[in-house]
Amino acid sequence: MAGQQKDITIVGGGIIGCCAAYFLTRHPAYSADTHRITLLEASSTSTGGRTPDSVQDPATLLKPDSASKRNPAHEGIAGGASGKAGGLLALWAFPQNIVPLSFKLHDELAKEHGGDAKWGYRRCYASQVDCSARLPPGFSGGKDEHMTAGDAAEKQNDEQGASKGLHKDHKKSAKALKKLGAPEDLDWLDTDALGGYDNMGTPDNTAQVHPELFTRAMAQLAEDSGVKIVTGAKATAINKSDDGKSVASVAYEKDGQQETLPTTDCIVAAGPWTSKLLPRIPVTASRAHSVVIKTPSTVSPYALFTAINLPSGFPSPTPQDAPGSTTTQQKPLKRMQIVEPEIYARPDGTAYACGPTDTTAPLPATNAEVEVDEARCRDIIDQVGSISDDLGRDGQVLARQACYLPQGGPFIGEVGGTKGLTVAAGHTCWGIQNAPGTGKLLSELVLDGVAKSAKLGGCDASRLA
Ligand SMILES: Cc1cc2nc3c(=O)[nH]c(=O)nc-3n(C[C@H](O)[C@H](O)[C@H](O)COP(=O)(O)OP(=O)(O)OC[C@H]3O[C@@H](n4cnc5c(N)ncnc54)[C@H](O)[C@@H]3O)c2cc1C
Repeated sequence: MAGQQKDITIVGGGIIGCCAAYFLTRHPAYSADTHRITLLEASSTSTGGRTPDSVQDPATLLKPDSASKRNPAHEGIAGGASGKAGGLLALWAFPQNIVPLSFKLHDELAKEHGGDAKWGYRRCYASQVDCSARLPPGFSGGKDEHMTAGDAAEKQNDEQGASKGLHKDHKKSAKALKKLGAPEDLDWLDTDALGGYDNMGTPDNTAQVHPELFTRAMAQLAEDSGVKIVTGAKATAINKSDDGKSVASVAYEKDGQQETLPTTDCIVAAGPWTSKLLPRIPVTASRAHSVVIKTPSTVSPYALFTAINLPSGFPSPTPQDAPGSTTTQQKPLKRMQIVEPEIYARPDGTAYACGPTDTTAPLPATNAEVEVDEARCRDIIDQVGSISDDLGRDGQVLARQACYLPQGGPFIGEVGGTKGLTVAAGHTCWGIQNAPGTGKLLSELVLDGVAKSAKLGGCDASRLA
């Protein structure tokens, strides 16, 4: 297929579309003379789904001189889940047919392009922790028989009249951590709160990136090698040839105008919006909230999968199906409840935390219209602050955000026997981890006609006849 003229259109400027663009330009058969590659991204802003007071450019937190720069012409790239995910990478992720390839590519990309400084790549630990929450200021506990150890200690503090309520010494005793099997450098979690510790991943098999900075870098590198990036360009139809057997063009809307792009090969990487263009690809979407908290000093590199026992009296989390509200009075819990926010320490002096998905806000037309429910962000902040002073009392909330998690797949490969039509979407909670592998496989599907670097296996979209 080398040397054959191709007009390739990628729909979607999330991590999957940007990795596809990057790996197409790295394919041995790629030539800027014979291949025209255009990436269409519907949004023209990356600020949707973040409260206005949030830090909008994460490069300013990492290393402003070397972190992946914000290119004003790329506004809209990584405006959805690809900019608001945690960024955990793991050899123990799923699906296992593409995970090892993608984990390795992340490592190689970081080495080749200075990913540690550009997008915060580093190896890290991952752990599961069982914790008991302390009550936040202004909330008092319920019946003593429902109390946890941390809760009881808190009550004792209150009774002693501690002015700030939560000021018992959380300077984590190394001895107590050791007893639980927890490493000594996990010193930003309260030892009083910690009830159980399980190791899930080590730097041998676990790593992280800042997803927005990584995606931005892939887009820039692709553009530097000849890819044209058009933001504010919403694909509206994929048109077929007269005989209906192959792709002919992609129609899109930009600035109120209808445009048509001649296309021999179209890759649809529209994340949770994919089914709107390809109804046979069953990608679903749920909203998820997250926050970014500046810690008093850089915390040790752990990704924590928590199970936090909230005592009675703790502010009730917003129910999954209830419309939240910034102003809602937080009612105290009547009985204990377990919540499971995930917390990822980052090398930029922050920690990222995300909460559960909710079902109250259907997928909007674009990323720009994603609404943040501040009550759900407040839930996460209360909960992670109840097991760590670094994230709570001594932390500063820098961002409150929401995005839509694409679910159902991943689906990678040819769609419905239409020559030149390929999809890569529905990557669930491992889309950051699996993006480089997906991008590489897409480059092979388009320029070699077959996926070579890994088996598509259960991901193969062509099975969805
Ligand atoms: C809270 C949270 C935490 C996560 N944490 C992790 C993690 O730690 N590790 C991990 O591996 N994964 C994680 N993920 C999953 C990961 O974020 C996603 O799987 C991944 O970002 C999906 O990328 P995407 O490019 O498919 O979709 P998106 O990022 O949604 O990008 C799709 C893009 O397509 C554009 N688009 C849509 N329709 C059109 C159209 N018609 N024309 C043009 N453009 C269009 C959209 O505007 C959007 O920019 C997390 C997800 C969430 C929600």
